Amino acid sequence: MSKKFLAIALTAALSCTALLAGCGSTTDNNTADSTDPVSEKATLTMATNAEFPPYEYMESNEVVGIDVDIAQAICDKLDMELVIDNIAFDSIIPAVQSGKADVGVAGMTITEDRLQSIDFTDTYTTATQVIIVNAEGSSVASVDDLAGKTIGVQLGTTGDIYASDVEGATVEQYQKGADAVQALKQNKIDCVIIDSEPAKAFVAANEGLTILPDPFEEEEYAICISKDNTELKDKINAALAELKADGTIDSIVEKYIGSDAE
Ligand code: GLN
Repeated sequence: MSKKFLAIALTAALSCTALLAGCGSTTDNNTADSTDPVSEKATLTMATNAEFPPYEYMESNEVVGIDVDIAQAICDKLDMELVIDNIAFDSIIPAVQSGKADVGVAGMTITEDRLQSIDFTDTYTTATQVIIVNAEGSSVASVDDLAGKTIGVQLGTTGDIYASDVEGATVEQYQKGADAVQALKQNKIDCVIIDSEPAKAFVAANEGLTILPDPFEEEEYAICISKDNTELKDKINAALAELKADGTIDSIVEKYIGSDAE
C-alpha cells in the first residue's frame, strides 16, 4: 500500500472513530498492520490465494510458501512491511487493479490476456501445466486423450483456460485445486489440469493419484502490478535482479521444492 493510500486509510479510520459510526472491519485479516500508526514503514500489500502449495498455503493459521518468502525478501530490500491479503484467485487481478492490493503474488502466469488489464514484473520462476489422473483405470493417458473428457481446474487459472480450449470437454471449475483433486478421487471428473508443483504436492498428499509424464505447457510466473504503478514495478524488478544474482531466489525455491526440481 502506498504512503498516500495509507494516509487516506488512517484519515478514514480516524473519522470513523470520531463518528462512532461502527465502521465494519474489512475482510483483510491484516488490516491492523497496514494502518498501524506506530509503523514507520510503507506497506506492500500482497494479494494471494493460499491454496497453491508450495507457493502459498496455510500452516498454523499463517500464509507461508515460496511466494511469501520472495515477497518478504523484496520488502526487506525495499524497507517495506509485507501485508498479506488471502483472497480467491480470480479476485487477485481486480484487487490489484483497484489498488486494494499493491501486488498479486500467487504463482501467477504471465499471459497476453492478463497483460491487457495488468502489468507484470520480471519473471521469477518457470512452471508447466500437467495432468493429474487416478493411477488405476484412467481413460486419460496423455494430452491427446483430453477431447470430450470432464476436466477439473481451479477457477480463473491458466489450467482453466487450456481446458476450455479442449474440444468437446466439460470443464468443472473449483475455487481450490484441492477440491478438484477430491472430485477426481471420487471419479466425478476424469482428470485435473494444474501447475506442476501444486500437482506434486496434491499427489503426495493423496493416495491413488498420478501425474502424466508429459507436461504440455511451459509458463513463467511473475508478480502482477497495476499498469500505473511503474515506480514500484521498477523497484521490485531491481530487488528481484539482486535476489536472483545473490542466490536468494534459488535458496527459497530449494527450501520448499528441493534442488532436484526441474
Ligand atoms: N499459474 C496459474 C495461473 O496463473 C495458477 C496460479 C494459481 O492457481 N495460484 O493461472
